[in-house]
Amino acid sequence: MTIQELDQTYVAHTYGRFPLVLTEGKGSLVRDENGKQYIDLGTGIAVNGFGIADDEWLAAITAQAARLNHTSNLYYSAPCAKLAQMLCERTGMKKVFFSNSGAEANECAIKAARKYAELHYPGQRDTILTLTNSFHGRTITTLAATGQDVFHKDFLPLTGGFASVEPTPEALEAAVAAGNVTAVMFEAVQGEGGVLPLTQAFADCMQRLAKEHDILLIADEVQAGNGRTGALCGYMNLGLQPDIVSTAKGLAGGLPMGATLLGEKVQDVYTPGSHGSTFGGNPVCAAGAISVLSRLDEALLAEVRAKSDYIVQTLQAAPGVKSVSGMGLMLGVETAADASAVIRECMARGVLVIKAKQKVRLLPALNIPWPLLKQAVETLCAVCAELEVQA
Ligand SMILES: *Cc1c(COP(=O)(O)O)cnc(C)c1O
Repeated sequence: MTIQELDQTYVAHTYGRFPLVLTEGKGSLVRDENGKQYIDLGTGIAVNGFGIADDEWLAAITAQAARLNHTSNLYYSAPCAKLAQMLCERTGMKKVFFSNSGAEANECAIKAARKYAELHYPGQRDTILTLTNSFHGRTITTLAATGQDVFHKDFLPLTGGFASVEPTPEALEAAVAAGNVTAVMFEAVQGEGGVLPLTQAFADCMQRLAKEHDILLIADEVQAGNGRTGALCGYMNLGLQPDIVSTAKGLAGGLPMGATLLGEKVQDVYTPGSHGSTFGGNPVCAAGAISVLSRLDEALLAEVRAKSDYIVQTLQAAPGVKSVSGMGLMLGVETAADASAVIRECMARGVLVIKAKQKVRLLPALNIPWPLLKQAVETLCAVCAELEVQA
């Protein structure tokens, strides 16, 4: 059997995969089983922030794997402790809980908010607000948090205690007036929802209501974090001060790791035995994350913003492109032609891009070399223009 046939036969059919078997890569280039090369503008969905098999990252994780690949959370280990320090110092948060995925990072955030409500407003605050069109994960609880019914159907009943509101100041004011709200959970830029940034007016309103009513703000930075938007965290672009921050995808540069950052108000809600994870804080993943985080400095972030400006300006002026949304290197392109057709044709011409709702989504490596970026964007422009004419 071919790899595709094996996969179709034995792997659960949860993914609509492209007919492409990827075998190896370096940086922003990746090859398929036939040796054909592609420029990667998807990075495993905002995971490989420094590309594939980045030298510095590889050295860090292999050295750590050879020294101590895993230990239980019954003992201390240096990479986990040092990474937590870096995350707190860079964000002003106070404590970190480590897990293995975005959904788990959000579960920890949700449990922390519930525990805070139980400690301070017993029996009064049973609701976490999330935003329509949001995406927070695939577990039963993070599905409940996800404000898109399409993901809910077939899996009822979901965890209670969630309500979704439109991301407008009016809708939020009305929902908060009910008096039972513990927290508002948001993505600074909704990724799966179509690469849509929150408006500044909504962010300001959310921050004001949080202060007035002691409502916790939970920033889901699973996709928008780790330098992706041109700031370390997406919420920083909006001047927000969340109480809880979850992140994952790009954190460990291609190894599975989630982190939940707990601010002043919630730093002590967790006590020994109240939460845990076998693999959480794994030393190899933590070493990878330290390598990533130590390079997310102002120079790199300025480079991300410059590349973003180039992509946005080039695409906005291109025939066949209707609009460009997003921030930094997390961009959504509304094309005149069908987005899936654009994606397929880009693939045929050696450029990998992905989808978000009906948009073409671009999530290139933060350090993608300029010549590769230009070549990929020119290919995308050509495809958009040609398919528009055919449409
Ligand atoms: C991908 C994503 C998640 C889920 O992360 P997993 O690692 O797939 O569990 C949660 N929130 C946001 C914003 C995401 O983009």
